[in-house]
Amino acid sequence: MKFATKAVHAGVHPDPTTGAIMTPIYQTSTYVQHSPGKHKGYEYARTQNPTRDALQTSLAALENGKHAFCFASGLAAIDTVIKTLQPGDEVIATNDLYGGTYRLFVRVFEKYGIRFQFIPMHNADAVVPHLTPQTKLLWIESPTNPLLNIVDIERICQLAHHHGAKVAVDNTFASPYLQNPLDLGADLVMHSVTKYIAGHSDVVMGALITNDDQWADQFKFLQNAAGAVPAPMDCFLVLRGIKTLHLRMKAHCENGKIVAHFLANHPKVGQVWWPGLPSHPNHAVAARQMRDFGGMVSFTLTDDRVENAIRLMENLQLFSLAESLGGVESLCGHPATMTHASIPKQEREKAGLRDSLIRLSVGIEDAQDLCEDLERALALV
Ligand SMILES: *Cc1c(COP(=O)(O)O)cnc(C)c1O
Repeated sequence: MKFATKAVHAGVHPDPTTGAIMTPIYQTSTYVQHSPGKHKGYEYARTQNPTRDALQTSLAALENGKHAFCFASGLAAIDTVIKTLQPGDEVIATNDLYGGTYRLFVRVFEKYGIRFQFIPMHNADAVVPHLTPQTKLLWIESPTNPLLNIVDIERICQLAHHHGAKVAVDNTFASPYLQNPLDLGADLVMHSVTKYIAGHSDVVMGALITNDDQWADQFKFLQNAAGAVPAPMDCFLVLRGIKTLHLRMKAHCENGKIVAHFLANHPKVGQVWWPGLPSHPNHAVAARQMRDFGGMVSFTLTDDRVENAIRLMENLQLFSLAESLGGVESLCGHPATMTHASIPKQEREKAGLRDSLIRLSVGIEDAQDLCEDLERALALV
């Protein structure tokens, strides 16, 4: 089945009792048993919920995986992965990483004896000297947040597997429409469903998708044992969002391309980061492992004082100044004070993240209106 058909149909069936074509919101905490221990497969809603089941089946299909598990947020999903490790285990992560992931690793899990290294991975082979017998997991983002670095997922997986380590890919920026890491050899895909998958800026949720049966058993155990499950209403909203994921992503990519080229040709714009630009250092890898280049664009100004970046963001009208990304409406953000403020300035600068960087989540509005908004705000700096 092709992606668009899966987006509309995977995991969902008309309700057998009424014929309702949409999956009902099973807003219940428990399920009646006809005799102790005899039930219809549902006991308590932290453990199982039919609306969540439908969504998990849909997400597994979209990522070409066997098992999917949903959580109350993207970070709750990541938290679950790290809880499958033991004290003494090491994780190697990309150094240009979502700020909340960095915070979870360093400020929550280091004190339990799990060690984290943050390594640039635009050259995949650079991880080799950092791999030790204790390295159990490589945590990859590609494209990265916010610098849109591209990691060669297939190559990283070969190197990691050769050393007996697993690879997890945070696929939030690409969405399953643009990239399927399991097909490239990854052991696990993680999504902040909050972003492109839900797509309408009205839900916070996370997901894990894997083909690894043993890891899946641990995720299922932890989903119930630690209990960071999403609400049925949110699962319904995400199921609705998924039905247009392919259409939205196509529009995000088209607009992302127009905005990236507009910025790249503007005299007041310094550097532009978008994996579809031939000047992007890993453009060739992006073209190989992604189906298109997405709607996230980062840039700096020629006069790259922070005051100028702030003035620009204050004057944009269609691009609302807000954290998050992946909704139908365009957003702009300032990673240094917003999404990445939890990473120390020194670490940010080591990863090439300057305080003057502006990040755009290009929405699905009319591209000309978006460029005119940028043009007008650029004239004021
Ligand atoms: C937002 C985000 C997360 C965290 O997800 P939440 O749903 O906000 O908990 C993780 N990784 C990336 C790349 C993100 O953009």
